[in-house]
This record gives sequence, C-alpha cells and structure tokens, in this order.
Amino acid sequence: MERPTRPIEPEAVRRPTGETRAQARATGWTRFAPAPTGFLHLGHVANAVAVWGLAAALDAKVLLRIEDHDRERSRAAYESAILEDLDWLGFAADAGPVRQHDDPTPYVRAADRLRAAGLIYACACTRSTFSAWAADHGGPWRGPGCPGGCRERTLTEEPWVTIRVALGDGDEAWDDRLLGRTSGPVTAAGDPAIRDRQGNWTYALCVVVDDLRQSISLVVRGEDLAETTPAQFRLARHLGRSAPAAFAHHRLIHKADGRKLSKADGDTAVHELRALGRRPESLIGQAAAAIGLLPEPRPIAAGDVGELFAARSG
Ligand SMILES: [Zn+2]
Repeated sequence: MERPTRPIEPEAVRRPTGETRAQARATGWTRFAPAPTGFLHLGHVANAVAVWGLAAALDAKVLLRIEDHDRERSRAAYESAILEDLDWLGFAADAGPVRQHDDPTPYVRAADRLRAAGLIYACACTRSTFSAWAADHGGPWRGPGCPGGCRERTLTEEPWVTIRVALGDGDEAWDDRLLGRTSGPVTAAGDPAIRDRQGNWTYALCVVVDDLRQSISLVVRGEDLAETTPAQFRLARHLGRSAPAAFAHHRLIHKADGRKLSKADGDTAVHELRALGRRPESLIGQAAAAIGLLPEPRPIAAGDVGELFAARSG
C-alpha cells in the first residue's frame, strides 16, 4: 500500500532573541548518557535521534557518558549491550565512553564546595516521610527544604542518611532549544539529594558536575525531566558554572495506554527488536515518528538524523 506523502517540516531549533545563527551553531559538546541499569529501549533510540540530530544541526560533538553512579543497579553486561546496540544503530560518539564510577573525586570535591558554602545538610527523611506528607497535604512535597525540616535540625552527616543541597527558592528561566522560553521553581521536588542513603552520589549531583567538568554546552533530554532543569541551573551556579548549558527537551514515546515507556518495557528493547529482524533505519524512523519528528515512520539512517532539525533562520 502506498502512503500519501506530505511535506515534512523539520523541527525548528529555537534561539534566544538576539542570538545569531553562527552563535547558535557554535554549540560545542552535547552528550548521550545512558545508565547501565537495563537494555536500550525505543525511548533511548528517540533520545539518540534528538541528541545526534541536534548535534548535527548545531555543529556540536557528542560525548558518550555511561551514567553508572548507582553502584547497586549498574551492570557491566548492560554497558556492553548498550555499546553494541548503539554501534548497530550507527550512532557514533565523538568521544567516550566516560564513566562516573571510575573516579568519585569530582563529586566529593563538589560536595565539599557546597558544604563550605553552608548549602548541604543531612536529612533523615525516608521515602515514607515524603509519602506521609503527600497523603496529609493532598500533593507531593514541593520544597524548599524537606518535610522533616532537617536543615534546621542540623543532623550529623552519618553514612546512612541522605545529604541534600539547599537550593534556595525562586524560579530559573531558560531559552529551550525546542520548547522556547521556559521557567520553573528550583525546588519543584524539594531540595535535591546529592548522596543517597546507600552512599551513592545521586544523578542530580553527578549530571551537573559532569556537564560542567566535561564542558557540555547542550543538554538534550526528554520533556519529563524539564521540571528538574531549574534545579540543575541553580546547582551548576553554586558549583561555579558561569554560563549555563543550553537545554533542549524533546517529546517522549508513550505506550498506547498513555503511560511513558520505561526500561521495564522489555518488549521494546533494541536487542529484542534486532532479534526479530528489524533494521537500524527502520527503528530510528519509528523512534523519530514516535516523538513527532516525522509525520509517520520511514527508514532513516543514523547519519541523516540532522535533517529532522533545522536551525530557524532570522
Ligand atoms: Zn529531611
């Protein structure tokens, strides 16, 4: 059956007012940063399409970062599978892979800096403290602080307590490369934990430290994470970042019943789709269509995903 063809408008890359086209293209480095806690699924492919596509449209390079900050859940076998799937798809990074667990020094130093500034505190709240608060108040804790008022209690930084950073209050705003002008409160989910009760440096800390030390100037991620972007801006500033990275939040793939895809959706794991005989171009086209970059799926090679984005002129 022949499908009707209709013109496809590339996703417009938005720029802050006054920024020239040349400035928009001098983006530097972005990153693709999977966690080795599961196999790549179609949602990762969609993110890879957006990362490599925007990198091509904005002349940025791609760093491959393996986000293995969670020591309990990260597995070398998952990392190998991720690298193999990316290779099969045809997404080649310009540098990496780099890992977080190889050397904890940058996160220790970052925590020391925040501590010296009087911004971190030990928090004895557990998951159930947060759910009890939400049940009592008809909605989740929004911060600043934590439901237990732990900052005022000045608890000792024992190894088994959560360490949080006090981000203060107010909003942060940014010119999102895909959403346009966006803003939100820095403590939409309370003060972020920088070390969890198991002693892991958290995603919230590691991602900001790594983006800073690896000179990442463009962050491309799913729109479900946009709520945490103001916290990342504020934390980066506390860690000495003078010019924040540009952010681009793309749409997510949803299951037919409206739920977001997750790594638990084994039916969409790339290695399983490979085993079913799917081709890389077909999978990339499906992922691109699922996040609205194509009106309907058609095969597209990893090297051509830059065509899905166009720097807006003028
Ligand atoms: Zn607390």
